[in-house]
Parts: sequence; C-alpha cells; structure tokens
Amino acid sequence: MTSLFVVAMAAVAFASPEFDTDFDTGSVGRVTELDSTWYHPTPNDSIEVRAYLIRPRWDPRNPVDTTLLPSCRWFHFRMTGVRDKWIFMTIPYTEVRRPFYSYDGENYVRFDATDGIYPQGLQKIFTRDTVYIAYHEPYTHARHAAKLHEWDASPHVHVDTIGYSDNDRPVAMLTLTDTASTWKEKRRVWIHSRVHTSEAPAAWHLESLVDELLGETSLARRLRQRVEFYIVPQTNPDGVEGGYSRSTPTGVNMEVNWDHPDSLTVPEVRILKRTLDSLTSTGPFDVALNMHSQSTPFVTYWVHSARSTSVAMHRRKLQLSALTMTHTPYYRRIDQRTSTLAPRYFEGWMWDKFGEATVAVTFETPYSYYRNDPEGTWVSRATLKKLAHANLLALNDFFQFF
Ligand SMILES: [Zn+2]
Repeated sequence: MTSLFVVAMAAVAFASPEFDTDFDTGSVGRVTELDSTWYHPTPNDSIEVRAYLIRPRWDPRNPVDTTLLPSCRWFHFRMTGVRDKWIFMTIPYTEVRRPFYSYDGENYVRFDATDGIYPQGLQKIFTRDTVYIAYHEPYTHARHAAKLHEWDASPHVHVDTIGYSDNDRPVAMLTLTDTASTWKEKRRVWIHSRVHTSEAPAAWHLESLVDELLGETSLARRLRQRVEFYIVPQTNPDGVEGGYSRSTPTGVNMEVNWDHPDSLTVPEVRILKRTLDSLTSTGPFDVALNMHSQSTPFVTYWVHSARSTSVAMHRRKLQLSALTMTHTPYYRRIDQRTSTLAPRYFEGWMWDKFGEATVAVTFETPYSYYRNDPEGTWVSRATLKKLAHANLLALNDFFQFF
C-alpha cells in the first residue's frame, strides 16, 4: 500500500500543467513541452521544473490585402497546475518585454525584470495553481461593456450603437459634451481606438481620457463646455474578444482599408465611414485622433509630411505634437515620427474629404517603457492616465482655451 501511495502521489505531483484560452481576449498558438525535470537546490529539497515553447497564434491570412503578412503579437493564456513549479517559457515571434501575469484573471502585474532571463524568455515559480499570462494587461470586451454602462449614466454622455460587427457585437460611440453649455462655436473632436486588437495600452489610455473628461476639474468642465467629443473606444469588438493581434477574426487589418470599396472591406470600417459621413454633414471635425499602441518603446504622433499634405497641415500636426510634449515627460521631440499620408489610412480618407479643416493624426502609446529607456518608467495604467491628462491639456492649448 505504501509504495502504491507514493506512486500515486508522485503522479499527482508530476501532473502536466494545462493550458487554455477559453475566455475574453484569450489566445495562444501551439504549445510544446520542451523539458520536465526535478531541481534539487539542497539534498532535502526539490522543485519541479517545466519548460515550454509557447507560440502565439497567427491572425488569419488577410483575404483582402493578400500581400500583408499576418501578425501574432498577442497572447493571453491560462495555465493550471503550476503552483510551486518552476516554469520556463520561450515565446517566439513576439517582442515580449516583461509581459503581465495574474492569479485571478482580474488583477495583472508585470513580470519582474529578473523573470526575463533571455530574449523572448521568462521563468518564474508561481505561488498559485492557476495563472493567466498576457502580452499586456488585457482590456477585455467585458471591461469595455462595463465602462460603457458606467459612462452612459453620466449626464454628459450619450451612447449610441452605430452598427454591428461581423459577429453582431454592437459598435458603440459616445457623444460627450456639456449639453447645457451655450458656447457658440463648439469644437468637434473625433477619437477612435482598438482597430488593432492587441493594443490594450491604447484602450487603457482612452478609458482614462474619458474618465477625466467626465470629472469635475476645471479642465474637464472647460473641454465639455467648448468641445463635442465623438468617441468610438472599440472599433473591432470581435477581434478584441477573440484575442486577435491586428485583425478582425476574418484576418482583415482595418487600418489599411479606408480606400477600399464596401465590397472589399469589413462591416466595422463601413460603420466608421458611414458615421463620419453622417456627423460631418453639418461640418468637419477640428481634430481626429486615431489611438494605437506600438511595440517600439516610446510614445509618438505620426506627423504627416508637408509633401503628402500641405505646409499648413504639417505645421498644425507638429503643433499638436509639440504641445503634448510640454505636458508630459513621457514624450520627447526625438520620439516624434513622420509618415507619408496615403488614402488607405483613416487620416488619408479624412484629408481627401476635409483637407486642412481636420487635423487627423495617429497617436501611439508603447507597451513596455517610455523614452526608449528600459531603466526609466514602464507603461502602466497609472502612467497612461498621466499621459491622457497631457493629451487633454494639449487639446486645450491647441484650441487656445485660456
Ligand atoms: Zn496599431
């Protein structure tokens, strides 16, 4: 009996951890166990060691732009049976820098710098049986729905469903303004985010921006009185919920589809175009922000060249970028980037329709750290909140609200 008991206990103790992704934003590709052994730090002590090759899941091949390579940045998986085990993970094809883990699927923390022992590698002894591991702190579809519900209770917000995704999820737009304000020439600002589904920092950033706009600071009150904000926080809800990296579940990268006919793009892009057409029937937007996150470790505006727009438009984009720099240490002049405007992008579509009337620009937050400095500040919900405050101060200055 004794020997059987020992064998049975050993089998339990040596059970393989299990992987799954059956939850909001869950995603992983093929997982291969590379090794399992026991490590004996002292003669009377032992610890089980498991090593895995964890491949992120590729987005489907793009059926519209067949020359575009799919992405496989995002991963968010759950492991069970890991308590007190030393887990080694190699995660290829992705620029993993101190990703996040959680023991409850709600509260996520970054892996320590000492947990990353080699490029694309992690190792940690987990203290609970279940752990969630994600490229970045996830911003789930459920979080989006809960925040919409919360924001909708504000007297300054009206939430509309502007259409339905391919899989019939609502695409929501907030109209945020002080409806009692008698300000004569209200500015109009459009903001959208989460075209690229892995870009959770952009979603946390946008959430902070809306939360601050609904607060009672003098800045928030002034902006509400003088600006109408139209905000689509989650343009690609199917892709977010399904844990895709940069596409819809059908593989379409919405970011580069703005010059495509309706027959060659997805409902989500058609919804945005239709909404913008409708909202601009009475006049153009003053500013349109396309919120993204990038793997390169700095904040940036993609300022379009004068050659691809106009000298005046180039200067106005430089001005918004420079004003943002004055309000945050996280964004420096050398982080600013220049790009060529093209009709396939949202900004190109806006330029073709509204020319110099609308400053349409992409703003990027990093996933990892700011200022290209791993010894400096790392991206967190707290720092994204500070950055959102800087964006609002910059808008205030840009509109010369004093
Ligand atoms: Zn993006």
